[in-house]
Amino acid sequence: MRISSQFVQQLKHTLNIVEVAGNFLKLTRKGKNYFALCPFHTEKTPSFSINEQLQSYHCFGCGKGGDVIQLVMELENLTYSEAIHFLADLAHLRVPALDPAEEKRYRDREHLQTVMAEASKFYQRCLKDPEGAGARDYLAGRQIAPGTIQQFMLGFAPGDGQRLVSYLRGLGIREALAQQAGLARVSEVTQRSYDLFRSRLIVPIQDMHGRVIAFGGRILGEGEPKYLNSPETPLYQKGYHLFGLGHALKAIRQADLAILVEGYFDMIVPFQAGVENVVASLGTGLTPAQVKLLGRFTRNIVICFDPDAAGANAAFRSVELFLENEFDCRVATLPGGHDPDTFVLKHGADSFRDAIKQSLPFLDFQLHHKLQAAGADLSVERKVKILESMFPFLARIQQEPVRSNYLAGWADRLGIHRDALFNQYNTFARSRKVDKAAVAQYSQSPLTAAETELINFVLHFPEMAPKIFSGVAVTFEGLTTSNILTCIAQQVHEGESFRLAEIEDMLTEADRTLLHQMMSRATTVVSETEAVNCLQSLRQRSLERELERLTAECQQAEQSGDMDRCRDILEQRKRIIMQLNK
Ligand SMILES: [Zn+2]
Repeated sequence: MRISSQFVQQLKHTLNIVEVAGNFLKLTRKGKNYFALCPFHTEKTPSFSINEQLQSYHCFGCGKGGDVIQLVMELENLTYSEAIHFLADLAHLRVPALDPAEEKRYRDREHLQTVMAEASKFYQRCLKDPEGAGARDYLAGRQIAPGTIQQFMLGFAPGDGQRLVSYLRGLGIREALAQQAGLARVSEVTQRSYDLFRSRLIVPIQDMHGRVIAFGGRILGEGEPKYLNSPETPLYQKGYHLFGLGHALKAIRQADLAILVEGYFDMIVPFQAGVENVVASLGTGLTPAQVKLLGRFTRNIVICFDPDAAGANAAFRSVELFLENEFDCRVATLPGGHDPDTFVLKHGADSFRDAIKQSLPFLDFQLHHKLQAAGADLSVERKVKILESMFPFLARIQQEPVRSNYLAGWADRLGIHRDALFNQYNTFARSRKVDKAAVAQYSQSPLTAAETELINFVLHFPEMAPKIFSGVAVTFEGLTTSNILTCIAQQVHEGESFRLAEIEDMLTEADRTLLHQMMSRATTVVSETEAVNCLQSLRQRSLERELERLTAECQQAEQSGDMDRCRDILEQRKRIIMQLNK
């Protein structure tokens, strides 16, 4: 797939990576660079850096890096051309014509987005119609204000099963598209399309940028299921979104804390009351993708699930994911069997804030829960057993001092000797080490100093590239940066000056990543003479490799008695040895 490099260049000149990244991440300026918690690996201290001058990013923790295009590819899980389109939208530029297949995929998504936006408008209008009275009553009962209804684009789906389908048809939207958007189904009996959502209050699920990607529909009155959600579509994959994130984003960044609740109204009601850093998990158990998504904005979470057994269990499961991703994870319980929705309505936002403030660190919450379940008058053995059941959770905490703190606190609280508990835990931890070793570690590619320094030099002094590379024929075979160096040499040999954007276009994604890593790691830049020496040493290396290859080939030819071939190879070897001695 090729997009004109001219356009890519124009795009990159128009955009500032710092501003683009700021839409996704909480950036802090430190000296010349900006830092954030890495969205691609889990960490507590920011090692994700953005260099405004180079317009590149790099994570010193996991090694990911690249330019603004790479960044949105990674963050939004987009292909290269999708990322270009995404950025072009931001920059208000039009992308020149694309490869037909990519173009189609992109257009399809756009069409689906249009259908969802139209459907959302339709549902919102129906809520205002006389037939929406029941839904309006329901919302009034939950004290949802008109402004909130508008903000969250709440709507109503009429009951007869044809209204949305025919409305969309009237707009010239094909039924197949409505089906693909998950809004219509085909009746097996009549073969006609009918609306998926009927007689339901409609809650749109939006992506981070406020685009409607799915709908949740709550039944009004009796019936099953109570909640019906859009099926998965090219726009919406279950477990990849958090309800309300687009609305809550600013507040989450400001507070550096997110409150995780379960249902739509558990998010909407506190938000309406002024506690805005709330997101909902959308019913299903929390997924790693959702945890990673949230981790882009904060690493502090308070889980506020229903206090019933199911809620507590859901909280336990979620917490493991959060702990693994190095979140500071707390659990809030609301008194009186309330969920956040009913609690805020009854006691107000301030009481809710207090409950959040009084949340317990997860491990303490869990221990408390277990001890309560075990009852009073516990034997020492029983206490130790309960503490042991906490070890797997404790082990997920990466920082040793935090773990020690917990252990000491628990030992004191249960009247058990600290040393004894620490020993017990260490035994447990040792038995787990084996599993840990299996976790693949990010390994740095073995770059030679010569290739690194040479590339750094050319990146800093592109105008010098033709001079450095001219006249020396070098094969870069066998080097990690072989493709990058070959591209540079090619461009220079074709009589052109060196342009980074064009090189990037010629490279595979892996090589582009490598190049960007090198760019962000670059510290010192060598002199011109040293750069020439680097190239010479790479040349020598490649000649030596060639020599080795020829020696082996010659031996083979000798063994098979092919003396002509043998002479041929010896001739080649002689030429290379002469070059080496030059
Ligand atoms: Zn990272």
